[in-house]
Amino acid sequence: MSQAAPRPALIPVNAVIFLGFPLAALVLVPWWGISHGFTAAQWAWAVVFLYLNGLAITGGYHRLWSHKAYQAHWALRLWFALWGAGALQNSILVWASDHRRHHRHVDDNDRDPYSAGRGLWFSHMGWMLREYATNTEDFSNVPDLLRDPIVTWQHRHYVALTTVMNLGLPLLLGWLLGDIIGTVLLVGLARLVLNHHVTFFINSLAHFWGSRPYTESNSARDNGVLAFLTYGEGYHNFHHIFQSDYRNGIRWYQWDPTKWMIALCARLGLARDLQRVPDFRIRRALLDTQFERARRSLSRHRAGAPLLEKLEREYQLFTNAVNQWKELQGERYERHVHALEDAIGERRVALQQKWEQAALRTRLRELEFSLKMQQKRLGLLMAQLPTLSAASH
Ligand SMILES: [Zn+2]
Ligand SMILES: [Zn+2]
Repeated sequence: MSQAAPRPALIPVNAVIFLGFPLAALVLVPWWGISHGFTAAQWAWAVVFLYLNGLAITGGYHRLWSHKAYQAHWALRLWFALWGAGALQNSILVWASDHRRHHRHVDDNDRDPYSAGRGLWFSHMGWMLREYATNTEDFSNVPDLLRDPIVTWQHRHYVALTTVMNLGLPLLLGWLLGDIIGTVLLVGLARLVLNHHVTFFINSLAHFWGSRPYTESNSARDNGVLAFLTYGEGYHNFHHIFQSDYRNGIRWYQWDPTKWMIALCARLGLARDLQRVPDFRIRRALLDTQFERARRSLSRHRAGAPLLEKLEREYQLFTNAVNQWKELQGERYERHVHALEDAIGERRVALQQKWEQAALRTRLRELEFSLKMQQKRLGLLMAQLPTLSAASH
């Protein structure tokens, strides 16, 4: 794409939504706050709406529909379809189709609709303002969603739904609270603008600011501050390498309300088949990245030569462990298939399978432990060159 090409035409509706609304909010909300004031109830409702919109986007649009990280009951899908429409970020179909393209062609300026390579502004919201070629609708990557009646229904009635959720509900609430204008401004407008920008951070800031512990093959970053603002989506480096995992923050202490909501829904019978990447694969990704960094640091320094040899030996051990793990996984799968084929003596098969699975699990756990130890050794090795360990980019 040449720089000299004329800029594509502005999309008027989007310009109003993404430029007009924030400007209006900046002027009108403080003005009303100063001249009339907002009640605690109005503030509380604004936060409730903010979270309902945000979680419908992260838990519904993103992890459920774009990545199929779990299966959801129709009641939950309907809930997400409604509150997601209230987030005014287009229909599930358009959103998920764009997002799947983003993952498939991440950082490819000609194919990723919000490629970070085109800059912070473009990936934040610039991409929505003009008729860019990367925005061409193509639903060939969402055949599964075209079969979901709730998704197609939401797509067909999107304008009506988003109007009811963004204007109808705040109007009704304002009438109940006795202040229609104030409620529409705070729960309607301010909440909408805020939710827009925090979700847009995932495409913009989460590709620029933070660490890359799992992979350096793309620009996505892990960032705890962003995770706090984005309902848990800030662990974006993890997400880009393991997109089918229903979690983004995998540690229990990592702020990921979307993951907690999905887990709660599973307990309530509203969600099932929650996908989790095996710990071994996660550790393997971490180690892979650390090896690469260590190798880069050591080869840049003369003093690193003897350590480099050690590093290569460690890497050999690592590769062996990975290969063994792959073999075990294959074995596990084959046993599972055999057990299924062997329809007679179901109980015996079940018992035998249970025992075998337990034995396999022990071996897998041993391998996992060996990686853990290796990670420690790698850390110690790098600590021998104190000035080098900081070079992590
Ligand atoms: Zn991304
Ligand atoms: Zn994603």
